Amino acid sequence: MTTDRPAIAGGTPVRSQMLPYGHQRISQDDVDAVAEVLRSDWLTTGPTIDRFEAALADRLGAAHVVAVNSGTAALHAAYAAAGLGAGDEIIVPSLTFAATANAALYLGARPVFAEIDPATLMLDPRSVSERIGPKTRAICVVHYAGAPADLRAFRELARTKGLLLIEDAAHAFGAAADEGLVGARAQLAAFSFHPVKILTTGEGGAVATSDGDKARALRIFRNHGITTETRERERAMSWHYQLVTLGFNYRLTDIGAALGLSQLREVDGFLARRRAIAKKYLQAFAGVPALRTQDTDAERSAWHIFPVAIVPAALRVDRDEVVRALRLENIGANVHYDPVHLHPLYRERLGHRPGDLPVTEDVASRLVTLPVHPNMTDDDIDDVIRALCRIVSYFAA
Ligand SMILES: *Cc1c(COP(=O)(O)O)cnc(C)c1O
Repeated sequence: MTTDRPAIAGGTPVRSQMLPYGHQRISQDDVDAVAEVLRSDWLTTGPTIDRFEAALADRLGAAHVVAVNSGTAALHAAYAAAGLGAGDEIIVPSLTFAATANAALYLGARPVFAEIDPATLMLDPRSVSERIGPKTRAICVVHYAGAPADLRAFRELARTKGLLLIEDAAHAFGAAADEGLVGARAQLAAFSFHPVKILTTGEGGAVATSDGDKARALRIFRNHGITTETRERERAMSWHYQLVTLGFNYRLTDIGAALGLSQLREVDGFLARRRAIAKKYLQAFAGVPALRTQDTDAERSAWHIFPVAIVPAALRVDRDEVVRALRLENIGANVHYDPVHLHPLYRERLGHRPGDLPVTEDVASRLVTLPVHPNMTDDDIDDVIRALCRIVSYFAA
């Protein structure tokens, strides 16, 4: 054991440069595509937006896609299109990025947190069912880490209780569900194109929907609540416009759309690389008693992140110490997420306390995120495996 001492115990780090947990991959084609838009007439709300939306719809197999300027805007627009308003409730997991819940607060609605299944890390249908009440209007399922959540039970719940089923697919662009790609047949699915996500527009997002009326509502919502866009008015030689609802400026730029369109041409390669990395991790950690990987089909997940849960009984140190030890090996380990309901905002606004969601709190306290991104080399993957294995064997109980 002294021969493979981790850096945190005085050994030499497995690598000398920090490996980030996520990173964009930008090609010369991406740079050229952006430069071309910069020389054109339309920097925003121009023809590249239409092309990007059409390409996204085509790639996902979705009827309608509306591009917006962040994944958070996509969630806000989707919740608004679902009719969520003051006093309404939406059931969400707490093991997610804050935006999943915040988007409900933006509309004066209340996010009601349900438990997750500790093996899949996805919302637990039984817990969701227990929390449905007279004010419940929607359920938002998060496709955690990019794995496609099993939606069958949620579709049934939504159908029988008259609820909208919304999908936070920020992690899951390209993930394969039973009925096609995640978002293909969604009532409302929100994607993010932040640089660490599967493909990027800098900042950006999109909502996929199978419902034409909702697509129209989303377009109005992203443009202040105005029924026409600048180019439509220009074509119609009209200078009047009508504000029919209170919307926001959530428009994506054509600069971002050009980057996204170019990234979309390479997304199959990105996904293949992420899956190859995840499969190497799964193989390496399969027999390690201190580690548990997510219960999912490696070929179907988009692997936005690679979560691994530690088994406390098998280790002399806690999760935070494992993350610290990985960072000292120059592995950019991370945590996704501290439960949303325990942030000060949610304790104050909704009165949450530790113990409210025991399953979520327990899993969340044991999860470590390992690096996954298409720039990673085989040596990078080996470094991550070697670092984590030396840490858990050194600190084995
Ligand atoms: C990234 C993310 C968002 C928000 O996306 P942004 O583009 O950063 O606004 C929402 N939900 C989840 C689960 C995310 O990971």
